[in-house]
Amino acid sequence: MKVSERLSDLEDSAVSSILSRAAGQDWSDVLPLAGGEPRFKLPSSVARDFEDQQLLASKITKYSPFCGIEELLQRIKDKLQIINRIKCDVTDLIVVPGGSAGLSGALAAIVNPGDQVVVPDPCWEHYIQIIRLFGAEPVRFRMHFNGTRYEPDFSDLRSKLGPRVAAVLVNTPLNPCGAVLSESECAELVAITQEFGVWLVSDEEYESFTYGKTRVASPRALSESVISVYSFSKSFSMTGIRLGYVVAPQSIVKLIRRYALYTYMYPPTPSQYMALAALQGSYVDYLDELRCEYERKAARLIDGLAKISGVSCWQPEGGVYLFPRMPVDSDRELVEELISREHLLSVPGSVAGSLGRGHIRLFVGVADDLLDEAVVRLRRFFETRLA
Ligand code: PLP
Repeated sequence: MKVSERLSDLEDSAVSSILSRAAGQDWSDVLPLAGGEPRFKLPSSVARDFEDQQLLASKITKYSPFCGIEELLQRIKDKLQIINRIKCDVTDLIVVPGGSAGLSGALAAIVNPGDQVVVPDPCWEHYIQIIRLFGAEPVRFRMHFNGTRYEPDFSDLRSKLGPRVAAVLVNTPLNPCGAVLSESECAELVAITQEFGVWLVSDEEYESFTYGKTRVASPRALSESVISVYSFSKSFSMTGIRLGYVVAPQSIVKLIRRYALYTYMYPPTPSQYMALAALQGSYVDYLDELRCEYERKAARLIDGLAKISGVSCWQPEGGVYLFPRMPVDSDRELVEELISREHLLSVPGSVAGSLGRGHIRLFVGVADDLLDEAVVRLRRFFETRLA
């Protein structure tokens, strides 16, 4: 199939359709719990540096080096060691315009048309489309819910690793259900992918958001052949700067660099200085503050949902979403009705895979009064439905 045919074959994401639908209405009371757009304060070092518009303006007229500015790469290398316990050289790194560009660069480097890429069920809806964009076929392995947490079903994963599989793509914490891979699960994933000779790609977009005693573990800390993708979007509340980075074997970095060269060319220069400012500040404290804030908000929403009959919601191990089970037959119809009747935006669980059916995804990173109002509207919705 031609690339243009593949592109026209892809579907719009549920989130983009829901956001466009709401934007087309004249509603002043929309509750924006669909997209994961953090509304948290910037790291203070970024706010301070870029109050000076001159500084930002001076970066606008410059192309960046292909893999990113040297000082930023050095800071990323240090951050990976401090936060993710990953040791690497700067030559194992490439800065990219967001986690999304990191994922597409990584897949461009390792996937051929006709290959299969194995992803969790449930997973971020974009995975399916990005994989199809490269002419490959997504295949699912089950995340098993054991009553308190989702865990990878390794025997199901093994059963999917046939001769056409090029890679396993995981996400920790997992959007939408908040599963966080433990260190032993990371080790098992590394062992299985090595046994079958396929790439392991680890998307750690939500790396900072782990709750309770759970802490992030990265498969890349266990093996240098893993490709890990990070972003400043969620962890530093800077979705707008469109900046992320990939840590990978140098042979893969070289291919991602070439993919970059013939698509977007360079990562944006002003954004890199903003990311550099973030990593020059006391980011360990910032990330922890943010983690606590999301944990508090998730708990607040869980408490509210617990009061709605038929809704069941457990405490996720991480991420920025809740994924409650709803008392309905069709999560898609429910989301539609919640939009039109209650102006509450959420995402149907079934877009994340068959195991998402009957769930909806709710973003917790909004103001507390919006979370409380979401509970009021959900409650009203189900009460009037049952009346
Ligand atoms: N990976 C996951 C699981 C996501 O949910 C997202 C965005 O929502 C991304 C990657 C990419 O985000 P960005 O390109 O802003 O880093």
